Amino acid sequence: MRYAELHEQSIHDPKAFWGEQAKAIDWHTPFTQVHDGSRSPFETWFAGGELNLCHNAVDRHAATRPDQPALIWHSTEVNQERTYTYAQLLDEVQAMAATYQALGVTKGDRVLIYMPMVPEALFAMLAAVRLGAIHSVVFGGFASVSLATRIEDASPKLIVSADAGSRGGKAMAYKPLLDKAIELSAHKPAHVLIVNRGLVAPEMTAGRDVDYAEQRQAQWGKSVPCEWVASEHPSYILYTSGTTGKPKGVQRDTGGYAVALAASMKHIYLGAAGDTMFTTSDVGWVVGHSYIVYAPLIAGMATVVYEGLPIRPDAGIWWQLVEQHRVNIMFSAPTAMRILKKEGAEAIQQHKLDSLRALFVAGEPLDETTSAWLQQTLGIPIVDNYWQTESGWPILGTANGVERRTPALGSAGVPMVGYQVRLIDDQSGEVLQGADQKGVVMIEAPLPPGFMQTVWRDDARFLKTYWQELGGKHYYSTFDWGIRNAAGDHFILGRTDDVINVAGHRFGTREIEASIATHAAVAESAVVGVADQLKGQIAVAFVTLKDAGQASDALRGEVAKVVEQQLGAVARPSQIHFVGGLPKTRSGKVLRRALQAVAEQRDPGDLSTIEDPSTLTAIQGLFKPASVD
Ligand code: AMP
Repeated sequence: MRYAELHEQSIHDPKAFWGEQAKAIDWHTPFTQVHDGSRSPFETWFAGGELNLCHNAVDRHAATRPDQPALIWHSTEVNQERTYTYAQLLDEVQAMAATYQALGVTKGDRVLIYMPMVPEALFAMLAAVRLGAIHSVVFGGFASVSLATRIEDASPKLIVSADAGSRGGKAMAYKPLLDKAIELSAHKPAHVLIVNRGLVAPEMTAGRDVDYAEQRQAQWGKSVPCEWVASEHPSYILYTSGTTGKPKGVQRDTGGYAVALAASMKHIYLGAAGDTMFTTSDVGWVVGHSYIVYAPLIAGMATVVYEGLPIRPDAGIWWQLVEQHRVNIMFSAPTAMRILKKEGAEAIQQHKLDSLRALFVAGEPLDETTSAWLQQTLGIPIVDNYWQTESGWPILGTANGVERRTPALGSAGVPMVGYQVRLIDDQSGEVLQGADQKGVVMIEAPLPPGFMQTVWRDDARFLKTYWQELGGKHYYSTFDWGIRNAAGDHFILGRTDDVINVAGHRFGTREIEASIATHAAVAESAVVGVADQLKGQIAVAFVTLKDAGQASDALRGEVAKVVEQQLGAVARPSQIHFVGGLPKTRSGKVLRRALQAVAEQRDPGDLSTIEDPSTLTAIQGLFKPASVD
C-alpha cells in the first residue's frame, strides 16, 4: 500500500484505521468506540476499553518470551552492565509495585520519579502504571527550583529517587537537591523511596525516607496484579517549558498512547518482537518515555539503557554497544551526532554495525552536513522525525515500514498517520495551500491517539495555550515555523515563541530570567536563544544591574551559579552580558527578537517601536566581528 493512501484512511476513516492498529494491544475489556470527539479538542480514544500499560509492556511478553532480554543496561559512569529478561523485568517491577503498595500508593496517586539512567528508573515507571498510579519523571539534570515547581504541581504521594547520578565519572548527589526541593514546595510527599547506589551516602529523614534495597528484599516474590484502567485514564504527566515561567504538565492517556506507540514502531521505526533498540536519550525527556521505555517494550523488543557520555571513554562507545548487543534500531539527537562528527568517522566504522537497519534522530533540526556525513559513515537510512513533548510520538517523519521514501535533505518528512498538519499564515490566519510558503505548523482537530489529553489539572490552560479557531475549524499550534516543498516534505524553521532548544533540550527563556532575577544585584534580564554550530542554540543572557558599577567576572560567575543551583547546569546561559539597558518598546516589552538578531549578527529589522535605540546600539557593539587591523 502507498503511504499516502494509509494516511488518507487514518484521517477519513479513523474507526477502521485505529481500530486495526489497536489489535497490537491487549485489552482487558474491549473498547466500544474507537474515537469519541464529543468534547473535542479533548478527544477520547478507545472509549469503554480497559487495559494496563505495564501488562502490555511486560507481563504479556514475560508469558510468551520470558528468557528474551528486555532491558540491557550499560553504564560507563560506574562501569557496570546488567541484562534483565522479560521474566526478570516482571519480578523487578512487581517488587517495586509491592513497595509502592506498602507505602500506600493506589490508583490515581502521583509518583514523581527523579532518577539517573539506571534500571530502577524504568522499574519505577512501570510499577506506577501497573497500579494505575500516574508517574511524573523529572529529568535528573534539573535542580531544586525546577523540581519544586513540579512537586507542587503534581502533588505526588511518593517520590522515587537515588543517592546520586554520575557525569563524566563524577558523582552528582541527587538527595540534597531533592530535600531542598521538598522544603521549597508547599506540597510534601508522604514518602521518599531511595535507590542507594553507594555513590554519595544519602541523609535519610526518619519516617519519610525509605531505602529501596530493604524494601525490595522484603517484597521480593510477591505477586502484584495489574490494575485495569479505562483507556482515557492518565498514564503520566511530563512537564515541559512554554512562554510563561511555569512549566506545563503534559498529561497523556493510556489506551491511545499504547496504540500510537505500537503503530509508530511498525510504520516508522521498523521494530518487531525480538529486535533490539538503542535510544540515547534520557528517561526524563519524552523521547525516553516513548522510545527507551514504552514503545520497544510494548513491541516485545529489548531496549538498551545507557548511562554515560557519547565520547567517554571514547567516541566508539555507542557503536561498541551496537556491535555487542546486535542493535537493530538506533534513535539519537543531532547534537550528539555533531559531537561524534567532530571526533571523526573512524571511531564508528571500526565496529561491526551490520545489525543496524536505520538511525533515527529527533529533538532539533538535523542540518544537511551532519545528515550527509551520517549517511556516508553508516550507509543506512538516516531518518529525521519531528515531534514534541505534547505529541508523544512523531508528527512528521518517514513511514518506511509502509513505503520506502527518502525525503529532501534537511526535511523532517511528511505528516504521520492521524495528523492533519497545516501551515497557517500568522498574519491572515489562512491555511497556506501552495508550496514553499512559510507558516506556523498547526494540527487540525482531532488530535490523534497518544497526543496530550490536556494540561494536568488545567483544561483552561490547554485551550488557551494551544488552540485557535480559524474559519470555523480548530487548530492546535506546535509553535514552530515550517515550510513545505512541492513534494510535500516539511522543513522546521524554529520556534515562534520564547522557547529555546539547547542540544535538543527545551527551555523557556522566562524560567531562566526568573532565576537570574533572584540574584540580589540584578535589576532585570532578557534571555534569548542564539544559533550555535554544535548545540543548535545556546542561551545568552543580557543583564542590567541595580548598580552598574558592580559588573565583574566574579558577579557573572555568581549569576551563572544561581541558575545552575536553581534550575540545573543544563539551563545555565553560555554567555552573560552586563548591559546598561535592555531594548524595549514604548509599552515596556523587551525586544527579544532584536536581541537575538544582534547576537547572531543579523539585521534586527524594524526598530520603529523601540523606546531608546541606544540600548541596542550598545549591545550591537558587543557582537561586532573582531576587526582585522
Ligand atoms: P520537546 O518538547 O522538548 O521534545 O521539544 C520539541 C521542539 O523541538 C519542537 O517544537 C521543535 O521546535 C523541536 N524539534 C523536535 N524535533 C525536531 C526536528 N526533527 N526538527 C526540527 N525541530 C525539532
